[in-house]
Amino acid sequence: MDQTLGIYIHIPFCIRKCSYCGFVSQAADEEMKGRYVDCLLKEIERRAPALRKNPVDSIFFGGGTPSLLSVQQIEAVLARLRLRFCLTEDCEITMEANPGTVSPESLAGYRSAGVNRLSFGVQSMNDGLLAGLGRIHRAQDAVQSVCWARAAGFDNLNLDLMFGIPAQDMRLWTHTLQEAAALSPEHISFYSLQVEEGTALYDDIKYGRMQPLTDEEDRQMYHEGLSWLKSRGYEQYEISNGAKPGRACRHNLKYWTMQEYAGFGLAAHSFLSGVRSSNTESLFDYIKALQAGRLPTVWSHANTQEEMMEEFVFTGLRQICGISLAEFRQRFGVDFHQVYQAQEEELQAFCRDGFVCESGGRMYLTERGMDISNRIMALFV
Ligand code: SF4
Repeated sequence: MDQTLGIYIHIPFCIRKCSYCGFVSQAADEEMKGRYVDCLLKEIERRAPALRKNPVDSIFFGGGTPSLLSVQQIEAVLARLRLRFCLTEDCEITMEANPGTVSPESLAGYRSAGVNRLSFGVQSMNDGLLAGLGRIHRAQDAVQSVCWARAAGFDNLNLDLMFGIPAQDMRLWTHTLQEAAALSPEHISFYSLQVEEGTALYDDIKYGRMQPLTDEEDRQMYHEGLSWLKSRGYEQYEISNGAKPGRACRHNLKYWTMQEYAGFGLAAHSFLSGVRSSNTESLFDYIKALQAGRLPTVWSHANTQEEMMEEFVFTGLRQICGISLAEFRQRFGVDFHQVYQAQEEELQAFCRDGFVCESGGRMYLTERGMDISNRIMALFV
């Protein structure tokens, strides 16, 4: 079993809130960013002694908008991680960045600091849709950011794209796919817009100011995206992710294969020795705890064997290769079909109907099965 560790660093700052955003993020001035980074360093310092036994092969700066931190701030965090952990030589160091928040100089600086993979929140290549989502950038900013990133020496880029946006039609979606693929990123993530309660978009839809797409339109866009990306040489390796050969995101694979990761920062989650835990979502509490010499952890839960099995199946089925039944037995000491005998009849029905496939010692969702993945996965929880 892989004994490496992944590290996630949450940067909770954005220029302004996008209309659909349900992430932990907020606007902040320079002083607040400085205080936050100081606290991040304190948290790394406090927790590293208990974690440092395994080499770190992936670091992921997520947000929020990590590219709102200065080069010096990213450098300081990476320097502290290098000091307190053993990073593998090929450690994948990803930073999420938003077009409109980077410059040739900042990208060159992040690259010199050791960031070797960027994930750009492009979402759409249509200015009208971007404005409707409350994004701060225009399509041209995305093109320019990618050009600057290449000039700065980045050879591993992801573009996040979104479909199922109100007022988006198939023509606009394929235009986004075409424009994105023309930038030749090594990795493309394509997510269906989720409308979350408490967001501005939720209210816009609730009060009829915006019209959501139908499930059918959403699914058509998903399948169009899939076949389009496959035709451009991207291998789908997860429900919403495709990559050029060898360019799957190492960090995300840790989530889907139940490997260990330590999260630092506001609202960051960790999974270590079978225990899931998370930090406070309150910026005030996060800073207060660390300044007082306390950890900001507010929740933790030691998974039972049953929960470990559920998570193994639930997260593993997100991968196109699905789950290995031999690995299930090796990890848990029991046969998969024995554990889920009560669900066997429904599972066999999904297999007969072409939604799930079991072959070569693996179980996985078919392309049709991905459309109803929530229904299938619900069998195991
Ligand atoms: S950039 Fe991302 S994290 Fe920031 S407000 Fe927009 S959706 Fe939320």
